[in-house]
Amino acid sequence: MIEQNHALLAKWWWRFSREKDSLWAKVVCRKYGFSHQDWLPQLPSSGRVSIIRRDICSIGNPDSEMGNIIQAGFKLQVYSGNNTLFWNHKWMGDQTLREEFPRLYLKSSQKDELYMIFGKLESLWRNLSPLKVEILSWMACQGRIATRSILSSRNIIVGVDDHALACPFCMMELETPVHVLLSCPFSTYIWTKIVDWWNLAWVDPSSLLELSSWWFSSRFKNLEKYLWECCFYATLWSIWIARNDIIFNNKDVDRNQVEELIKTRTALWIKAKFDIKVYTVEDIKRNLDGVRRLKI
Ligand SMILES: [Zn+2]
Repeated sequence: MIEQNHALLAKWWWRFSREKDSLWAKVVCRKYGFSHQDWLPQLPSSGRVSIIRRDICSIGNPDSEMGNIIQAGFKLQVYSGNNTLFWNHKWMGDQTLREEFPRLYLKSSQKDELYMIFGKLESLWRNLSPLKVEILSWMACQGRIATRSILSSRNIIVGVDDHALACPFCMMELETPVHVLLSCPFSTYIWTKIVDWWNLAWVDPSSLLELSSWWFSSRFKNLEKYLWECCFYATLWSIWIARNDIIFNNKDVDRNQVEELIKTRTALWIKAKFDIKVYTVEDIKRNLDGVRRLKI
């Protein structure tokens, strides 16, 4: 009897998440104060709650056995993103992004934001590189990565002189996201070398967002397009890793080595994505023109 009741409630939950625009769902939301954005009914974190609302919500409690089964069995499709919480809903993989990337989540200033808000930079979600790389790219393009200037403005770094907030590559400028990843002479050199590798002219953008708009609106087709886009992620990621190596590991970083790493990462990611057997990583690095013509 209890199991049947649970099954019926679970079915009710399923319909609630699927039929958001139906009259009955709107009435239930209005009557019991559920948020229209919740894909499953949630209890408010504080305040008085009606018994009926508490009963409806009780089954989905993630601490209960049934709640666990339900939560594990549900996965969201994003569509417009206006019902999907970016960090806290399961929409990619088997975990929430909050569970998968707890450190990035802690650094985010938009912990309860909808996917829709982040989706403005939708072109950056290409599933071409590891997810953490695409998240970093997307955060960087919004100027939301934890550079020294950002940590200082949030009072996470306090009581230090300007030298401690300087860009680790040039030690001349304040380390802002756009400086360290783009306009620092070290980073500009690397971006220019990668664009040269493609025989293209550098656009000299003033922001990472402008750079990404240019990069992702290329006219390339087929594998060539994916390779080009992989280069964007590999470059941003490799500059960021080099920056972290200097700050946290006290390493000397050579810009030509970073350039090589970018090409290696690009080749590894594109091979992982498309299972390209005819070309090795070295082939892709040394014979880009040949690989660009390959059809997939
Ligand atoms: Zn610099």
